[in-house]
Amino acid sequence: MAAPSILESIFLKRSQQKRKTSPLNFKKRLFVLTDTRITYYEYDFDKGRRGSKKGSVDLEKVMCVESVEPEENPPLERQIPNKDEFTDTTEQIAIIERFPYPFQIVYDDGPLYVFAPTEDLRKRWIHQIKHVIRFNSDLAQKYHPCFHQDGQYLCCAQTAKNAMGCHLLQSANGIPKSERSQRRSRKPLPLLPETSKPLPPTPSTGPRKVVAMYDFTPMNAQDLPLYKGEEYLLLDEDSGQPWLRARDKNGKEGYIPGNYVTEAQDPLEIYEWYSKNMTRSQAEQLLRAEDKEGGFIVRDSSKPGKYTVSVYAKSSGEGIIRHYVVCETPNNQYYLAEKHLYSSIPELITYHQHNAAGLISRLKYPVCSMRKCAPSTAGLGYGSWEIDPKDLTFLKDLGDGQFGLVKYGKWRGQHEVAIKMIKEGSMSEDEFIDEAKCMMKLSHQNLVQLYGVCTKQRPIFIITEYLSKGCLLAYLKDQRGRVSQGDLLSMCSDVCAAMTYLESKQYLHRDLAARNCLVDSDGTVKVSDFGLSRYVLDDEYTSSLGSKFPVRWSPPEVLLYCRFSSKSDVWAFGVLMWEVFSLGKMPYERFSNNEIADQIIRGVRLYRPQLASDRVYNIMNSCWAEKADDRPAFRNLHCNILDVLEEM
Ligand code: ADP
Ligand code: MG
Repeated sequence: MAAPSILESIFLKRSQQKRKTSPLNFKKRLFVLTDTRITYYEYDFDKGRRGSKKGSVDLEKVMCVESVEPEENPPLERQIPNKDEFTDTTEQIAIIERFPYPFQIVYDDGPLYVFAPTEDLRKRWIHQIKHVIRFNSDLAQKYHPCFHQDGQYLCCAQTAKNAMGCHLLQSANGIPKSERSQRRSRKPLPLLPETSKPLPPTPSTGPRKVVAMYDFTPMNAQDLPLYKGEEYLLLDEDSGQPWLRARDKNGKEGYIPGNYVTEAQDPLEIYEWYSKNMTRSQAEQLLRAEDKEGGFIVRDSSKPGKYTVSVYAKSSGEGIIRHYVVCETPNNQYYLAEKHLYSSIPELITYHQHNAAGLISRLKYPVCSMRKCAPSTAGLGYGSWEIDPKDLTFLKDLGDGQFGLVKYGKWRGQHEVAIKMIKEGSMSEDEFIDEAKCMMKLSHQNLVQLYGVCTKQRPIFIITEYLSKGCLLAYLKDQRGRVSQGDLLSMCSDVCAAMTYLESKQYLHRDLAARNCLVDSDGTVKVSDFGLSRYVLDDEYTSSLGSKFPVRWSPPEVLLYCRFSSKSDVWAFGVLMWEVFSLGKMPYERFSNNEIADQIIRGVRLYRPQLASDRVYNIMNSCWAEKADDRPAFRNLHCNILDVLEEM
């Protein structure tokens, strides 16, 4: 009697082309799984019954069963149907004619490719077959995630059908237990509770008041000038846009850069003693550099909503620094060391400019960072994303990149810009130009601002903010021995702030690394080239097997399935932290790209750089959790980094 069948399904079977001349065809077959073999039969659809036997595979010989990456442009029969194709019953029948979910049963002849009509059915078959073959003696540890087609594997270009797999199996079945238990478990840092308050919706009660934090000179006819400290009325509901319509006190209307104004009633930004994004170690560095008795800085504390006053004094020639948290009473009054209460921070500072009152020194000299100069605007004037090349002057070469030459220049003779001249054939230009409008809206103090594009001529230009200290990787190598651990961590904090912003916009970088960050004149690090990798035309760069693919910055799911997400950016950020703390070393320097992919999938990770403390190393290590979901979000990473910085 025939063995009872475990599963029976109609699948599409790809011909195995055992002879070189046999055609590649796809036939519907009835597949029957028993506990000893898989047999496939002709199927008579009219009579609804099994026809003659066409072939079988002995389960004893099966080495692996796995899904296969979908084909690039499958014909209709193997395409996933759209949701709207399910609208009526006649079409539903047509849907059963679709077989979009391929899997492979690998045995000594090579793979047998089978296509299931639903994801669920594919899973059930893979699961069942795995169960039956679990005691087979030569189970494979590696497999080919892509098809063998036109004489070679699409994943690794090996030609022989029985060539050894190029990727480790992700499922437990294929990996011996001994090896699995060797993997180090990597406990991620605890996540912050998801309680950070969302901003309350802005009530639509007519125009709202804002105060200018910087002067702004109009760049085109629609812009409105801003004068620091003056009030303006916002005419738009949505204050999250980079350019806002506003009215000044004389009734003049126009567009202003959103990052130049604040809704705070008494904004600290207009005071020279306030440096919003300064960390403890940056403050100490600046105060020491000024070396003035009574030098002081007011900055945001690492505790949200709190402020710290950092003060420098000299006792017997030695500089000492103290950090005082601005305390607040339950009825919103502020004080520093002793209880001299004021209803605002500026009033409190004015008091201590005249009275030490418990501080190591009276607040004599406001020390400010160069960052007091106005930030970049999102584009050169409202709505101007196409830039007239006649407004550009080219002054010097900055470097040569993936897309060609990068030059330094000026826009209308005064605004410094960097100009990427896109070498013809290096970029899918039309797609990029479509995307550029969205990229222009991304605006953050740690992102290299895209100002616009010149697309009316060839080569096209991409115009961005200019950063005078150039590429972070080169900067790190130059700085050997001259930077403190605090400086290094604040570089990471800068990058993490930008990535937290991108994460909140659900925008992926895809090529985060020290070589894609730039350094400003005051040492601020900014992230560059976000999302650009999607437009590169160069197989060496875009294919995960190419020599320019950022393998060293890629997590297992990218190496195996090209699965990009914010969490693959998090992995790359961990590697970037490693680059920073190794002062620009090449990650995994002794391994080739090919070796690294294997090592990463096996659980090998980068070592702790000498300059990284255990706490810093824990943070970078949390970015390298094997499972993407176990890696922290950038928001949480940034909190962890700020905590460590504050205690340095
Ligand atoms: P690509 O991204 O096309 O590969 P890069 O951005 O790496 O090119 O540019 C090449 C080099 O030019 C960089 O290493 C850096 O030194 C310099 N550079 C690029 N953009 C800027 C900029 N905005 N400000 C200052 N220097 C820059
Ligand atoms: Mg680059």
